[in-house]
Amino acid sequence: MEQALIDRYRCPESLVKFDLSGSLSKEAGYFRFGRDTICYGRSATGFRASRPDSVLYDALKDVTTNGSNPVLSFDPTEIIDNLRLERYANGDNQRALNRWKRSLRDAYYFLRPLLHVNIRRLFQRAHLNGWQRLLFPHWPVDTTVEDLCERLLLLSMKARGVGRVPFVWFWPDGAQSCVAMTHDLETEKGKTFCSELMDIDDSFGFKASIQVVPEERYKVSADFIQNIRDRGFEVNVQDLNHDGHLFRSREEFLRRAQRINAYGKEYEAKGFRAAVLYRNLDWYDALEFSFDMSVPNVAHVDPQRGGCCTVMPYFVGNMLEIPVTTTQDYALFHLLNEYSLDLWKAQTELIMEKNGLVSFIVHPDYVIEKRAQGIYRDLLSFFRQQGQEKRIWFAVPGEIDDWWRSRSKLRVVDHNGKWQIEGPGAERAKLAFAKVVRDRLEYEVEA
Ligand SMILES: [Zn+2]
Repeated sequence: MEQALIDRYRCPESLVKFDLSGSLSKEAGYFRFGRDTICYGRSATGFRASRPDSVLYDALKDVTTNGSNPVLSFDPTEIIDNLRLERYANGDNQRALNRWKRSLRDAYYFLRPLLHVNIRRLFQRAHLNGWQRLLFPHWPVDTTVEDLCERLLLLSMKARGVGRVPFVWFWPDGAQSCVAMTHDLETEKGKTFCSELMDIDDSFGFKASIQVVPEERYKVSADFIQNIRDRGFEVNVQDLNHDGHLFRSREEFLRRAQRINAYGKEYEAKGFRAAVLYRNLDWYDALEFSFDMSVPNVAHVDPQRGGCCTVMPYFVGNMLEIPVTTTQDYALFHLLNEYSLDLWKAQTELIMEKNGLVSFIVHPDYVIEKRAQGIYRDLLSFFRQQGQEKRIWFAVPGEIDDWWRSRSKLRVVDHNGKWQIEGPGAERAKLAFAKVVRDRLEYEVEA
């Protein structure tokens, strides 16, 4: 019941416990927990809708307490898994729709090499049709997992009469949020521009990770990889050949995963990203990487819809998922026709409100052009400014992976009436407290 909360906060297990009010429904569906939080899964009361935009039952009003524990009509860990692993997007009625979309996608990818870029954009805009009406996940950032955890922790504290709960702060050295820049090299042209893009990053004092396609797109030499590393940038594997068919069938995926794993070893890369952010998290155990970066937070303007509804990293089996929490440059410039920082700034603000990870995909291929490149420079300059005003951790994904793994093993323990963080790497961790302030949860980080 409470495991997802314990994992999120790394707080003492004895302080957060929930009971279940009855037996869960057989089928899963959408319901609400309070006015704005949409859940997907099984529940013990009310009804479950098949679509997020139907009238939804509010399970918050069924919460009672049983001595010191809140009694819930659902299992929070199941609900959070359903969101983060995008199981809500694979319900029965979605599956039929997805099959139809998949055959369109296959036709599109078959024809793609023959299509002029303007015609491709037409196809992509047609796919986008109506995305503004989608209620769930929430655009432009979805923080359902964060909202749910906060509300549940609050309920638990009230039921116990506890004023504050100690936990391991989300980021090292007390940073308020984390920002990560990643670059995917799509074509020969992008690959050629990569060194200039690293110059631009360096001129603003940022390092990024570079995702390289191992086969077919361009030639990848050992020197090329080494040069990126020598400059202090990170190298990760992007797909196998970027043909859009990585997840088309289980057999084909397993065959390709072997090659992808071999390239990971050859490049000494710890991280993976699938082309076009296509994904199937249920198959990820075949990938031998420490982390993945293929899941968008809210995917309304990506080819594969869905989204993980969180702005924090999370584990999928042994692999850490570092989600993509902002809109990709391609969609921003070419699908939304947006040549300003407005959307990226709005997303940054929403993510930072939850102390989350602000992560970007910017392709060298799409910032060669002057207007787009100007926006990218503005973004870096915006973050340099932000870094002077707030404590932000600017990190490459590999560092985030190291930190999140070590944090996942840290524990808060009571030492003669004083809370302390224990475990390897505890020096970088900060003790924090969740407090109830006027019926809301607030965080306080120890200096
Ligand atoms: Zn790509």
